[in-house]
Parts: sequence; structure tokens; C-alpha cells
Amino acid sequence: MPTWFSRHSLLLQSSALLVLIVVVIFVTQYPTYQKDRELEQVDINRNLELMQLMTAGYVQQLTRDADVIAASPVLQMYIRDLSAEGLLSLEQAFLNLAGLRPSYDQLRYIDRSGVEQVRVNNYNGEPQLVTQGLQLKIHRDYVKAGLAGEAGSVFVSRFDLNVENGRIQVPFVPTVRVVASVHVDGEQGGMVVLNAKANELLQHLRTALPDGTDLVVLDDAGGWIAGGGVADWAFADDSASRFSASYPALWQQVRGAQQGQFELEDECYNYRWHRYSDPRVESPELLLAQRTAGEPCSAVGMDSVKKAGVRLISGLLVTYPLLLLWRRANTRKWQMQRVLAENYHQLQVVTQMSGHGLLMVDQQCRVQWINPEGERLLGWTEAELIGRDLHQTCHVTPDGHSLHDGPCPTLHTLATGEDSRADKERMVGRNGRIVHLSMSVRAFGDPENRGAILAIADVSRHVETERNLTQLARTDALTGVLNRGAWLSVVSSWVDNDNAALYVIVLDLDHFKRVNDTFGHGAGDTVLKTFVKTVSHLLRRDDVFGRLGGEEFALAVRHLTKEQVLVLAERIRVAVGDMLCTLDDGQEITITTSCGVAQYSGEESLKQLLEKADKALYLAKHAGRNQVQFYQPITDNGSE
Ligand code: GH3
Ligand code: MG
Ligand code: MG
Repeated sequence: MPTWFSRHSLLLQSSALLVLIVVVIFVTQYPTYQKDRELEQVDINRNLELMQLMTAGYVQQLTRDADVIAASPVLQMYIRDLSAEGLLSLEQAFLNLAGLRPSYDQLRYIDRSGVEQVRVNNYNGEPQLVTQGLQLKIHRDYVKAGLAGEAGSVFVSRFDLNVENGRIQVPFVPTVRVVASVHVDGEQGGMVVLNAKANELLQHLRTALPDGTDLVVLDDAGGWIAGGGVADWAFADDSASRFSASYPALWQQVRGAQQGQFELEDECYNYRWHRYSDPRVESPELLLAQRTAGEPCSAVGMDSVKKAGVRLISGLLVTYPLLLLWRRANTRKWQMQRVLAENYHQLQVVTQMSGHGLLMVDQQCRVQWINPEGERLLGWTEAELIGRDLHQTCHVTPDGHSLHDGPCPTLHTLATGEDSRADKERMVGRNGRIVHLSMSVRAFGDPENRGAILAIADVSRHVETERNLTQLARTDALTGVLNRGAWLSVVSSWVDNDNAALYVIVLDLDHFKRVNDTFGHGAGDTVLKTFVKTVSHLLRRDDVFGRLGGEEFALAVRHLTKEQVLVLAERIRVAVGDMLCTLDDGQEITITTSCGVAQYSGEESLKQLLEKADKALYLAKHAGRNQVQFYQPITDNGSE
């Protein structure tokens, strides 16, 4: 049967398929999307944590270096005696450390009055001792912090640009200063100041971030250190360029939370504040953030959605041509099915309306199907007949006699595959009545699994008509007994079968002409009919009585002795003589008959037998009529 799909347009089918695919992908991909979002956030948090650790490690490294120098005996000794040798030793120690740590731009010792005493500059990885132009730095914040610091305390400055002689060094040298306060014998002894190249940290931090993201670093005043483009470091001489100045409300929000997420110009920022937790160290707070380039926060996890989209489209690209192919293949099938269904319907109508009974049998002659006319002819319903052996059910009498002469047409066709035809076939109906049928049988299927279709039609009336016609042809119209031809035909078959105990009696009405002449031809007919009726009453079932012509009749009898035959002939003669023929006008007349009897010799022809009987009749007539004469062959002495 054509399905729903076959009846609807391609557009509808495609839409339905699309919706189905979308639903399937949504149902299957939504958990993945959720998971992806979570995983991406976990990734971001891990990146932020890594940046935090890197920054902490960086600060720790600086602090430790500053500590080491601040606590070095060389420095302690120099502060105590301020000797020239002590200074030389100190300078050598600074040069050594600068060689080990090329990441420091400057290493200095500033005394308690804020004057640089030892300064080593790192020029492209080459440490150089600066002896000329040592400056008074007392007004700088980091120097103030160093002087105010207790023994063992370290101050890490905000990230800043290097300033030489009151001017920002160009190109920018992002710098972070680490100041370790020096105390000797409980007294303030100046400080060790290390200028570290902040870019190194920034480059290091960038390695923690995946592709497609940017590093963003703000200081605790909201100045851009990284990720701000032209605004980076601009806070050094332009406080209006700070993030905190550009986005004050957002800054408030960001400042208030240790970590979080915000959106700026449709880009997502995930941030975390770096706060160094060593109580000995005063370190600036830094906001470390990962910015997802060009994507808002809602796009987190959207990769999986994109993947799902790609799957959806590729799924469609694959399934759509398949759908078209499937539909094409099926359209033909559906059309075939429709045609088949219509044909089947038409066939049903035709078979139901057919004047022929139609049956289908399988290889074992079991009924598979029968049409209503077939049911009517045989008296079986389809439900009763299906599965039954047609031959055993309808072609054999209940006592096992075949109803067909020669081979059964159906079995013949099933066995040979040849068509069979029978004009007069008999079948037994449900009620036991014999039905006369014409039958055509045709095989179908291959020889291993051959079935047959039977077309049957009722020929009972035809058979009856034929029987009537035959009857008419055999019967004398006036008297109803066999006519001459029929009588001869029956009796000659007896003769042919060499039936020795056969006698023929020829009967002729006496002076019948007179009846005609006296009472008319109609009266003669009445006499003839009355005569036949009278004789017939005296006959047995097997006796064959017929009219040879005119008022001459013949009777053939078997299985009787000569005496019995003569008694019979005599009885007929007497009965005829006794009978009264009532004419139309009520008159009653009588008549007599003469009989000639002859016995079949066993060799002669029927003609010869009849001639013998005729001779005997002749004798009877001659001897005065109304008598029986038995034919006697002529003897040597001339008498019969
Ligand atoms: P016989 O005693 O010698 O037999 O004399 P008959 O008159 O009986 O014999 P005949 O042969 O001379 O006459 C027979 C008559 O029977 C002649 C014919 O007209 C008449 N006949 C023959 N067939 C019929 C018939 O069917 N109906 C009538 N009414 N008469 C018939
Ligand atoms: Mg006669
Ligand atoms: Mg006659």
C-alpha cells in the first residue's frame, strides 16, 4: 500500500525530515553542548589559575633574588665600613648576579639617604657597572617604601615604565621594581632595587593562553598593562586612558569580585585577581584576564553547536539525495502497487460478475479460491471449500466412484501443464446433487509449483435439452414408445452381444384399415394409443417395445423360455382383444392383434430375425388373425 510519504509533496517530506533531523541533533547534541560549555569554562579557569601561578612564581623569584643580595655579607660589610674595597666587592657581586639574571634591566643598591651607590645596567645581556651619574632617588615611591620597610621586608612596585632622569624611557621598558630593605645591626641600611623586565612575565603569561584568546592585564588602579592596544602603559602619563576611567561601572564590578566574567565590546573576558599572599612582601594586585577574541560570553560552548550544525548540514547533504533516490525507487513501487491493487480490484469485480464459476487450486488440487458463481454452482462456500481437495470433494461420489470418464481434466492439467477442456463434466455439489458442467482448466506457475485455474459453467439445461432431443429422436410421436430406428438400435446391440435367449414378437393390428375407414383416422390413432398402453402394462422393465411402422409393433424380450414368451404373446393378444377403445364421440370399439414370434438363433442378423417373426405373423394372419404363431424353420418335408 502506498504510505503517507507517497501521497505528499517532496517539500513536505523534506520539511518533515529536516525537523526530524533537527530534533534528533538537538536531543543528541544538547548534553554535549552543555558538557562542552562546562569543559570550556574549566579550561578557562585552569588558564587563569596557571597565569596566577606564573605571576606568583615570577614575584617569588624577584623577591628571592632581592633577598639574597640584601642579606649578602658583602653588602652588610660595605654598609658597616663603607670602604672602597667593600664597594668594589659589592659592585662585583652585583655584576655577577646581573650575569646570572639577564632579565633584570637594572640592579642597584641605594643607601639610606636615597642615593644610588651601586648600579649595574644590563645592556642587551651585557652587565655594565655604572659609576657616573648615579642619582638621588629619594623622591621615588619605591625608595620611600624601601626606607620605610622593616628588616626582611620586600616591596614589589606596580608595573611601570622605566624613568630615566625624570623622563619615560622610549621605547617603553615595562618595569617592575623589587625593593628589599636592608638593615644592619638593627638600623636602616638602604635597599637593594632590582628592575625586572615586566615584558618577560607578559610573554610568559601569553604561553598559558590558547589560540584565539588575548592576554589582558590591568593593575589595581585600572591601568592597561596588556590587552589594551594603544592604551597599554598609557596610564604612565595619561590617567584618562585607564580601564577604570573608560568603564567606571564595569571597573567597580570587576574590582569587587576575586574572579568573574564580563563582556566588553562583544568580547568575553574571564578574569582573576592576582594577590600575592606572603605577609613579608608587599606586592601589587594585578588583574589577569583571558579575552576570547571576537566572541561574546554566550559563544562559550558554541563550538559544539557549530559542530552540530556541520553535522546537520552534512547529514542533510547525505540524506537528501538518499531521500530523493529512496523516493524515486519507491514512487515506482507505489505506482506498481496502486496498479496492482486496481487490477486486483477489477479482477475481483470481473470474477464476481463472471457468469463462469472460477476456482483456483494448488499443486495438490486443494482449493485456494472460488468466486461467487463457483460457490453457487457447487453449493459450497469459499470458507468451506478452501483447503479441500477439489477432486475428492466434487469429482468423486460419496461411495468413491469417479464422476468423470477418462482422466480428470484438473489432475491432468496439474500433472502436465496442458490445458484441459470438457464439455460435459459432472461434479457433485454440497447437497449431493450432480451438477453438469463445462470445464476449462489452465495451469499457472512453474512445474515445481504448478497450480490451475478452472472455469466452470452450468450445462445442466443443455444436457437436459440434449436428452430431450435424443428422446424425441428415439420415440414415436403418437404412442410414446421407441420408433423403428431406436428399437432396431437397441435390439441390434443385443444381437451383437450374442444374446442367445432373445425372442422377437411382431404384432400387427387386424383389419386396422377398416377402423380408419369406418371411424376416421383420429379413431385409428386412438386405437393405436390404447393398444400401446395395454401392451405396455404387460411388459417388464427390460423388454423393448417399439413401433416398426403403421399398425405394426415389435417386442424384444430376453431371459425367458420359449413357453414363457408364448404365454406373454398370448397374454398380449388376449388383453388387446379385451380392450375397449373409447373414441372421442364416446363410442367404444374393439380390435384384435396377430403376433409372430421368433427366437434368435445366435448367428443371424436382426433383419433375419425380424423376417422370421414376420413370417410367423404372416402365418397368424393367414390362419385367421387374432392369434400367436411361433416361427418354425422349414423342414425337409416342406412344412414349417
Ligand atoms: P390386416 O388385418 O391384413 O393387417 O389388414 P389391415 O387393414 O390392418 O392392413 P392394411 O395394411 O391393409 O392397412 C393398414 C392401414 O393402417 C393403412 C393405413 O392407412 C393405416 N395406418 C397406418 N398408420 C396409421 C396411423 O398412424 N394412423 C391411422 N389412423 N392409420 C394408420
Ligand atoms: Mg393390420
Ligand atoms: Mg400392417
